[in-house]
Amino acid sequence: MNYVVVGNPIAHSKSPQIHAAFAAQCKLDGFSYERLLAPLGGFDAAVRDFLAAGGRGCNVTVPFKEDAFRFADALTERAQAAGAVNTLKVQADGRVLGDNTDGAGLVADLLRHTTLAGKRVLLLGAGGAARGVLLPLAAEQPASIMLANRTAAKALALADEFRSRIAVPLAGCGVDAVAGSFDVIINATSASLGGEAIALPAGVFEPGAIAYDMMYGREETAFLAQARSAGAAQCVDGLGMLVGQAAEAFFLWTGQRPAVAPVLHTLRTAL
Ligand code: NDP
Repeated sequence: MNYVVVGNPIAHSKSPQIHAAFAAQCKLDGFSYERLLAPLGGFDAAVRDFLAAGGRGCNVTVPFKEDAFRFADALTERAQAAGAVNTLKVQADGRVLGDNTDGAGLVADLLRHTTLAGKRVLLLGAGGAARGVLLPLAAEQPASIMLANRTAAKALALADEFRSRIAVPLAGCGVDAVAGSFDVIINATSASLGGEAIALPAGVFEPGAIAYDMMYGREETAFLAQARSAGAAQCVDGLGMLVGQAAEAFFLWTGQRPAVAPVLHTLRTAL
């Protein structure tokens, strides 16, 4: 059972450590998982070579999630909605299935800290990560989802695209035009990468709110620092989402659901 994570760069990836821990938990002898550096523009060739040599599946990271979307012979509904694939699996008939487990990873991690049913959710960002989590978030039946983005037009377009596909009220606006307060505020922008806070109006964080940043690191992210000083009761980074999306990929490949908490604890300690 040979698996890889494909990306460029890839040396930093924690996925081999995560999947080795899952395989050990599930006592899967013969499960191997390595990093595969594909050249820019060379995703298809790298994956074809890996599969020809007996590879059973891949995780896919920056910048190849859209290449993987095009590469797959068939797509899950959530991958189709995301427009991006982070997991490939060779099926029994040899065809390659593309899935996107990022949204499931986020929701599983959020549900470890809070409930989503009936909550007012603010989702910041309108890039690939926001698009990928919309369907899994809506499936938890929050009261509403507000999509807010620095470039307002992108949030409006994404909300228009998804409105008819979900049973939850969905609207879009610019980050500076967010009105009202929210119970769950999720940062799916890359603002924290540059250490930047987000230009949100005051009062967005309801007392008792949970703030979730998809980014993670040893230090508190800029968004979580902003949320804490605005009164958020819980501030959670995206390390649990990373382990959660890996657990969902592991399940797709092996049919086994590993425990996330011990692996997350080990990673957190090593940050
Ligand atoms: P994209 O490049 O597709 O989108 C970036 C988004 O961030 C856009 O909406 C952009 O707004 C917004 N943005 C960038 N800079 C700022 C800023 N300074 N202020 C406000 N908004 C800003 O990125 P992705 O959607 O792929 O990824 C977003 C984040 O999610 C990344 O930090 C990534 O690391 C993280 N992520 C984490 C995962 C995990 O497992 N923990 C999994 C997947 C992603 P605009 O449209 O105006 O440019």
